[in-house]
Amino acid sequence: MAIRLRCEDYGFECKYILDEEKTADLIEKLRDHFEEEHGIDYAVEVVTQMITNRGYSLESIKK
Ligand SMILES: [Zn+2]
Repeated sequence: MAIRLRCEDYGFECKYILDEEKTADLIEKLRDHFEEEHGIDYAVEVVTQMITNRGYSLESIKK
């Protein structure tokens, strides 16, 4: 299951879109983006919650 996440869905004025077929590194990629672009170091649990809040199951983002 492909996952598509828009940074702007999380309240940022940002055009970054994470569009992934493989979900293994999804959480790390998103965390890296938030840290590098927005200077926010979210915990893994927080980012996981952000993704599941978009309607993706926990199973779909587990390694
Ligand atoms: Zn962003």
